Amino acid sequence: MRGLTSEIAARLGAIPDARAWRDAPLGPFTTIGVGGKADILLTVASPVALAEALRVVAYAGVPWSILGGGSNILVADSGFAGVIVKLDEAFHYVDTPVGAAGRSVRVEAGGGLPLSRLAVHAAQAGLSGLEFACGIPGSVGGAVVMNAGAHSGSVSGVLEAVHVVSPAESGWLQAEALDWGYRRSGLPAHLVVTAARFRLSHAVSAEVLEHHRTLLGVRRRTQPRATRTFGSTFQNPPGDYAGRLLESSGLKGVRRGGAQVSTVHANFISNVGDATAGDVLGLMSMMRGTVRAKHEVVLEPEVRMLGGSFPWDQRARGAE
Ligand SMILES: Cc1cc2nc3c(=O)[nH]c(=O)nc-3n(C[C@H](O)[C@H](O)[C@H](O)COP(=O)(O)OP(=O)(O)OC[C@H]3O[C@@H](n4cnc5c(N)ncnc54)[C@H](O)[C@@H]3O)c2cc1C
Repeated sequence: MRGLTSEIAARLGAIPDARAWRDAPLGPFTTIGVGGKADILLTVASPVALAEALRVVAYAGVPWSILGGGSNILVADSGFAGVIVKLDEAFHYVDTPVGAAGRSVRVEAGGGLPLSRLAVHAAQAGLSGLEFACGIPGSVGGAVVMNAGAHSGSVSGVLEAVHVVSPAESGWLQAEALDWGYRRSGLPAHLVVTAARFRLSHAVSAEVLEHHRTLLGVRRRTQPRATRTFGSTFQNPPGDYAGRLLESSGLKGVRRGGAQVSTVHANFISNVGDATAGDVLGLMSMMRGTVRAKHEVVLEPEVRMLGGSFPWDQRARGAE
């Protein structure tokens, strides 16, 4: 595999607007900051370079995945045996065509742009619709894939279309063609979101910014601050809140190695030391098992794993 990796790295690095690094640590590219290395980390600066790189990788039969802001990702301690793709700053653009007064406005943003920057840009431009996104970390592409949301709003409510690139094709997909759900877009894993178009409405900029301040205040009061975390660990089960179930199970503050259930919000795990992915997974298993025993509710992860699988999925496979 090592020979194959260096050959692929050389071919990827030769693509104009692409850069390849071998044995790249992935933890620093995630908000929780744990996990091993990728065989190759590839950054691309144009959709054309991305398409070419994906063709090289697909032709070689090497596993690949895309990393956005890394704010909803847990990287396995063993890392990722394959190619991790990241969109570089060329995908950090936002473009606001002027709409007719009283009508909705279409805003196009690059897939790598931080979602919160897009929300602030819209607010400053006097556009409403993305207020829910003002405190959500991560990129526009990751937000589309996760159908990120908060305060009763979500990406699917304002998204018009996404531009996607795959090894085989590229083009715009209408949002209504996707299978949206809670923290789900239904977008197939082999499609990379390189841009998204949102439909926003005219509003008074000062009022939208004031709404941001209110929502950010709620976040500051209810979520841990200045901590390394990937946000909500588990999805809310139908009709309930994962945080409520975890807190009433007495889990706040419980620790495994360097990973701790936040003392502020029981559905957040903090990396309080040099946590490993093993620490985080051990803690997640314990949280899930405790809630199952106390409330007879099975929590499903909101965080996604890169380069590994959750222990309960491994056990289920072992039982097959
Ligand atoms: C402190 C904190 C608070 C949070 N609060 C919220 C919240 O209120 N609401 C909420 O919904 N989430 C929240 N999150 C979770 C996270 O911010 C969102 O899920 C976010 O949308 C993930 O975006 P990302 O770019 O970081 O994606 P990543 O974590 O990098 O990736 C997530 C998934 O999307 C895929 N992906 C990423 N970019 C692309 C792309 N361009 N094309 C195709 N696939 C891609 C990845 O392969 C992966 O499967 C929070 C996280 C933190 C750390």
